[in-house]
Amino acid sequence: KTASPQSGSGGDVRLRRISKTYGSFTAVHPLDLTVPAGSFFALLGASGCGKTTTLRMIAGLEDPSTGTVELSGEDVTALPPYKRHVNTVFQNYALFPHLDIFENVAFGLRRRGIKSVKKQVEEMLDLVQLGPMARRRPQQLSGGQQQRVAVARALINHPQVLLLDEPLGALDLKLRRQMQLELKRIQTEVGITFVHVTHDQEEAMTMADTVAVMNGGRVEQLGAPADLYENPATTFVANFLGTSNLIEAEVTGVDGDDLLLRAADRALRVPARRCPHAARTGDKLLAGVRPEKMALAHPDDAVPEAHNRLSGRIKDAAFIGVSTQYLLDVPGVGELAVYEQNIARDGRLVPGADVVAHWNGAHTFGLDAAQD
Ligand code: ATP
Repeated sequence: KTASPQSGSGGDVRLRRISKTYGSFTAVHPLDLTVPAGSFFALLGASGCGKTTTLRMIAGLEDPSTGTVELSGEDVTALPPYKRHVNTVFQNYALFPHLDIFENVAFGLRRRGIKSVKKQVEEMLDLVQLGPMARRRPQQLSGGQQQRVAVARALINHPQVLLLDEPLGALDLKLRRQMQLELKRIQTEVGITFVHVTHDQEEAMTMADTVAVMNGGRVEQLGAPADLYENPATTFVANFLGTSNLIEAEVTGVDGDDLLLRAADRALRVPARRCPHAARTGDKLLAGVRPEKMALAHPDDAVPEAHNRLSGRIKDAAFIGVSTQYLLDVPGVGELAVYEQNIARDGRLVPGADVVAHWNGAHTFGLDAAQD
């Protein structure tokens, strides 16, 4: 393994009650957030949720209306961008077209008056696997290669934190997936803290150790990707990260560690610990289940005794290669999505067929029915 150019030099980022208002509009509500040193952190949300504004306040490109930004324990709120140990990679790579790749990467060193740049630039080009391209101009590279140059250029001055603002937004899907893995590898190798802004949930989940899901200028939930996916805390998170079936239900009783529910006229059983908003008979909640946790059976087929089940009719079936995605109509409940991996079917699971959707109750998460 080659020596990393600057391994282990990541800094932590602390935002304390930071907010941004434009006139009477609040783009970011007072926000407390800690990004651990050396982590890959994603700010994820739909357009307009305030993620770029948050990133720009960390960079110093935007003055916060309230609150402070700390980098490695130092309050940098009043410092201009160039005095913070951060650097930003933007979606439009903004490479210098008249300079070759080597000089684009060397730029930050030369500006600081450093004469012998060769070793550092070559190390950095190796890191992004563009060594052989050193003498090409940006326009002679692919989009993905140009983005890697932009990353190398941003890393050359050893920032403690690298901020990435939709850096892969201009790339096509396949290249974007490659670059996601590539950026993750680079981050692991250099050990610098990465804060990555994206609207793409798959991108955030692929790359980040921790994801902050933003909505309407607030962080709705923060956690490891798998945790957010398995235990979404709000309907927004449940629907923004993948697809969720949210079934309106009411508590009818408690049995040991389980809550007993009624949805339409069907009885369901779910773990009480996964339903923090409902405890007593009569409480209402949304019972959430991911489509891939459900399976379909013919009404005459055996279903595991302990499984929850809802009867319905297939409205639509779409074969998408890795799975078949069914849409069911369930009287009293509404539409349910069910993704089946098993494509070797007997021909009975076609639109119009009556079926039973069933799932292990342990895969159910409960959400507050009263939230908006
Ligand atoms: P996108 O992915 O579209 O960039 P975003 O989540 O990054 O979205 P921001 O760019 O942070 O969103 O913007 C948050 C909100 O603040 C938006 O509603 C935007 O219109 C508003 N906003 C941003 N900059 C300004 C400004 N200079 N003046 C007024 N409103 C602004």
